[in-house]
Amino acid sequence: MKAAVTYGYKEPLVIEERPTPTLNPKDILVKIHACGVCHTDLHACHGDWPVKAKLPLVPGHEGVGEIVALGAQITHLKIGDRVGIPWLYSACGHCEYCLSGNENLCLAQQNAGYSVDGSYAQYCKAHGDYVIKIPDNLTYVEAAPLFCAGVTTYKALKVANIKPGDWVAIFGVGGLGHLAVQYAVAMGFNVVAVDTGADKLTLAKELGAEICLDFKTDDVIGQILKQTQGVHATICTAVSKAGFEQSYRAIRRGGKCVLVGLPPEDMPIPIFDTVLNGVSIIGSIVGTRQDLVECLDFAARGKVKAITIEKSLEDINDIFNDMIAGEINGRVVMKMC
Ligand code: NAD
Ligand code: ZN
Ligand code: ZN
Repeated sequence: MKAAVTYGYKEPLVIEERPTPTLNPKDILVKIHACGVCHTDLHACHGDWPVKAKLPLVPGHEGVGEIVALGAQITHLKIGDRVGIPWLYSACGHCEYCLSGNENLCLAQQNAGYSVDGSYAQYCKAHGDYVIKIPDNLTYVEAAPLFCAGVTTYKALKVANIKPGDWVAIFGVGGLGHLAVQYAVAMGFNVVAVDTGADKLTLAKELGAEICLDFKTDDVIGQILKQTQGVHATICTAVSKAGFEQSYRAIRRGGKCVLVGLPPEDMPIPIFDTVLNGVSIIGSIVGTRQDLVECLDFAARGKVKAITIEKSLEDINDIFNDMIAGEINGRVVMKMC
């Protein structure tokens, strides 16, 4: 099978032939039709984080396709089922986190395109218990970004625990953020969107954001405080420390600052303001299988639609360069067939 492979951090990916994976009894084999390109894949290939991706690595955790082979113990899926393989490739199923509906926090989890090979390939092996079926009325290209960008932002809005009519500010209107705006609108929140450039801010407006601010040219905090008296929650998907600092300062008293983006930096937290303002700072990592089912249902009902730019596997190094330059408006999805 053809796959894109990283052999060294910050090196270009290599397109090459690899053996099609062999299955254990609980595995399935998915013929990948499409795979979204997440900024996490770029962090993985650059070795950005304290816990590094395996090498060599086939990245990709927004892979979707059809099941073409089943391990001997798989009884709940069949050949031909349309499924996606998320970041949460597998979890142990019996620890405190797995048992309490927090499998995304399982210490024994494997991650697609990070600790195990992912979907930048024509075929990908997956754990049968952790793939999720794609609703019939979504195409593969429409579904792919929901398997990370969609579920992650939907979950972040859930953990913000705010109510319809409240204000939420989305920092970063990229692959994650453009879906965050849509989920926030669909959940009944009033939305502020912060990014830079006419393309991203126009898109945010079209997707339902009421206030759109450019972090390079606007007084973001001044405008948010003036127009909303401070938002009830922020979801920060920006790949920038500055974005996190601004998102913290945009919240009102008692507000929630949900951290989602993963720039490899620290964020200084002012203790005095946090205490006196009763601020909550919450980390949010992808979502569970149930979150994924819910987030796909929003799309199946037409309430959320990923804006996609179709490319092919051979384009991957150019796609990463565009991502570094901040030039992608929506989510790039590589079509594999
Ligand atoms: P992306 O490159 O598509 O989008 C990032 C956006 O942030 C860009 O539009 C960029 O212009 C914008 N940005 C940069 N600096 C900013 C600032 N100061 N203020 C506002 N916006 C700013 O990336 P993506 O695929 O959406 O991923 C975003 C981040 O989320 C990455 O770090 C990724 O690793 C992380 N991520 C986290 C989770 C999770 O579960 N927590 C899941 C997926 C991705
Ligand atoms: Zn991702
Ligand atoms: Zn577990």
